[in-house]
Amino acid sequence: MKCVFCTFNTKVTDKRESPEGTRRRRECLKCKKRFTTYEKPEKKEIMIVKKDGRREKYSRDKVRNGLMRACEKRPISIDKIDKIINEIEEKLASRGKEVKSERIGKMMMNRLKRLDKIAYVRFASVYKDFKDIKDFKEVIKEV
Ligand SMILES: [Zn+2]
Repeated sequence: MKCVFCTFNTKVTDKRESPEGTRRRRECLKCKKRFTTYEKPEKKEIMIVKKDGRREKYSRDKVRNGLMRACEKRPISIDKIDKIINEIEEKLASRGKEVKSERIGKMMMNRLKRLDKIAYVRFASVYKDFKDIKDFKEVIKEV
């Protein structure tokens, strides 16, 4: 990158990564002035691979709806739900371009488990698609 003051070449003196992006301290090789640049993380498109092998674009809204349904009438703020989604998205971004839908379901489930037992059981009952009462009892036993 060129110096913003004199357009000569610069070097990076410090680099920090955060979820908001990459922050770089730069120093001009000629005039020695310093400045900081920010680079937003590239929004990678993530594809969800469904059980039957079909693929669809990852949708934040869908994840949110699923979580909200499970958390209905529970004392859980939208902020908490958004935090869970952010965590999941960070994980997904580090994994690559394709993620199995089951994987996301598990991530959602694990987080709900820590957050609220009722919401967890509700989510698990839909997600696991309980075949019989035994499955249900197993989940109940876990919490
Ligand atoms: Zn310069």
